[in-house]
Amino acid sequence: MEHFDVIVVGAGLSGIGAGYHLQRDCPGRSYLILEGRDAIGGTWDLFRYPGIRSDSDMYTLGYSFRPWREAKAIADGPSILRYVRETACEHGIDKKIRYHHRVVGADWSSKDARWTVRAEQGPDATPVSFTCGFLFMCSGYYDYAGGYTPEFAGAEAFGGRIVHPQKWPQDLDYAGKRVVVIGSGATAVTLVPEMAKQAAHVVMLQRSPTYIVSRPAEDKLANRLRAALPAMLAYRIIRWKNVLTGMYFYRLARRWPGQVKKGIIDMVRAELGPDYDVSTHFTPRYNPWDQRVCLVPDSDLFTAIKSGAAEIVTDEIDSFSTTGIQLKSGKAVDADIIVTATGLKMTFMSGLIASIDGEKINFPERMTYKGMMYSGVPNLAQSFGYTNASWTLKCDLTCEYVCRLLNHMASHNQTTCTPSLPQAGVAVQPFLDFSSGYVLRARDAMPKQGATAPWRVYQNYLLDLLALRFGRVRDGTMRFS
Ligand SMILES: Cc1cc2nc3c(=O)[nH]c(=O)nc-3n(C[C@H](O)[C@H](O)[C@H](O)COP(=O)(O)OP(=O)(O)OC[C@H]3O[C@@H](n4cnc5c(N)ncnc54)[C@H](O)[C@@H]3O)c2cc1C
Repeated sequence: MEHFDVIVVGAGLSGIGAGYHLQRDCPGRSYLILEGRDAIGGTWDLFRYPGIRSDSDMYTLGYSFRPWREAKAIADGPSILRYVRETACEHGIDKKIRYHHRVVGADWSSKDARWTVRAEQGPDATPVSFTCGFLFMCSGYYDYAGGYTPEFAGAEAFGGRIVHPQKWPQDLDYAGKRVVVIGSGATAVTLVPEMAKQAAHVVMLQRSPTYIVSRPAEDKLANRLRAALPAMLAYRIIRWKNVLTGMYFYRLARRWPGQVKKGIIDMVRAELGPDYDVSTHFTPRYNPWDQRVCLVPDSDLFTAIKSGAAEIVTDEIDSFSTTGIQLKSGKAVDADIIVTATGLKMTFMSGLIASIDGEKINFPERMTYKGMMYSGVPNLAQSFGYTNASWTLKCDLTCEYVCRLLNHMASHNQTTCTPSLPQAGVAVQPFLDFSSGYVLRARDAMPKQGATAPWRVYQNYLLDLLALRFGRVRDGTMRFS
C-alpha cells in the first residue's frame, strides 16, 4: 500500500491551496491529492449555469500567495477556474493529483499512528487504499451527486423542462422561452439577469426575499493600484482593504440590524423607483447576515427588472401544472423551462465514514477545534471557509496551521496530535450560526462548537489570524504523542 505523509482529499480551491502550503512550508513531506472527479477546480468546474460567478471579491476569494490579476473583482466562473488551474500547474501541484479517486472512508490505527484511506477508483468504483500520517479534508461542503430540490406536487405533469443549476444541461436552449427560476439565493440572482438577456421573459419565484446589495464588478481603486504597484503589493493592500471593509459591514449589521436593514432596502428602492413593491419582494423576514447577503454586480438584477425582461414573484408554490406553476395565492405562472435554484445538499466531509482503532467516529458528537479539527480525532483537519466572508480566507489560515502542526511534530519526534476536550466538557452550540435552509437541513449531521476558544468557530478573520498564524501550537488542548 502506498504511504504519504499527508493525503489531501479534493482538488478544488482549498485542495490546491493545501498542496501549495505543504510544498512551501513542509518541503520534506510527501503528499498526495485524491480527487473524485476528473478535473481540478471543484465548485468552479462543476457549476456550468449561465452567468456563473463569484459573489465575493476575488481579492479575498483568491489565495494569499497568488495575486488576482484580472480587471473584474466579482469574477465569472471560467476565470476563477483558470486561476485555480494555473496555480496548480505553476507549482506542479497538478502532478500530485490522482483523479477518479473518491474517498469513502478512513481508519486510524493508534499503534501505527496512521490513517488507512479507502477510496473508490474509476467508473467501476474499484476499491483502493493508501496510508498517511495526516489526513486533510478539502472536499468542500456539499454533495457533488446532486443539489437539493423539494418535492413539488405535479412535477411529473409539467410539459416543459425542469433543470437544477448543479446539473445544467449544456444543450438547454432558452432563447425566446418563458423561464421560471425558483429561489432567491446567490444562484437565482445570478441566473435571472443572465437568462433574461435571451429568454422571452424570466420570473424569479421566491417564497421569501433575501437581502440584495449591488457592487461594481470592477474595483476602480484596485485596478489603479494594480497599474501603479508591483502585483503582490497591490494585491495585499486590496485584500486587506476588502477584509476590513467586509468585517466592518458585518459587525455593523450584527450590532445595528434595524439601521442596516433600512439602509439595504433604501438602496434597492433607489434602484427600482418609488412605484416598485420593495416591501414584498426585497424585505426579508430575518436580519442582515442571519443568512448570507447576496451580491449583484453593477445592479444587473435591478436593470433586468426595470427593463421588464425579468420579474420577481413572491408567493408559495401549490403545485406544478402542465403549463407552469400554480401558486397558493391562486395565481399561476406559465413556463417553458423551470429552474430549481433551491440550493445545495450540505454534506459534512463528503460523508466520510471514519473510525479510530475500529470504533466509528460519530462526528455530530464531536466538538470542532479552531474550526478545523475535531475533539478526540487525531491527525485530521478540514478546510472549511467562512459563511460571512470569502471561503479562502479561512482555508489559507487552516493550511498554515496544519503545516505548523506537522513541523512541530517533526521537530519534536512526535507522530500524533489530538485536540482533547477538558474533563469538565464545554458548552455545546451548533457548528454554524446561520439560518439558511441548507445549513438547517444539515445541522444534525454536523459536529458542534463551544462558547469559547479553541472550541469556538469565530467567523472572524482577525481572530483566526491571531490564533492560527501566531497562536501557540502547544496550547494545552492539543495533545501530542
Ligand atoms: C455556485 C457557487 C458560488 C460560490 N461563490 C462563492 C463566492 O463568491 N465566495 C465564497 O467565498 N464562496 C463561494 N462559494 C462557496 C465555494 O464552494 C467555495 O468558495 C470554494 O470554491 C470551495 O472550495 P473547496 O475546494 O473547499 O470545495 P469545492 O470547490 O467543493 O471542491 C471540493 C473538491 O473535492 C472533491 N471531493 C469531494 N468529495 C470527495 C471525496 N469523497 N473524494 C475525493 N474528492 C472529493 C470534489 O470533487 C471537488 O473537486 C460558492 C459556491 C457555489 C456552489
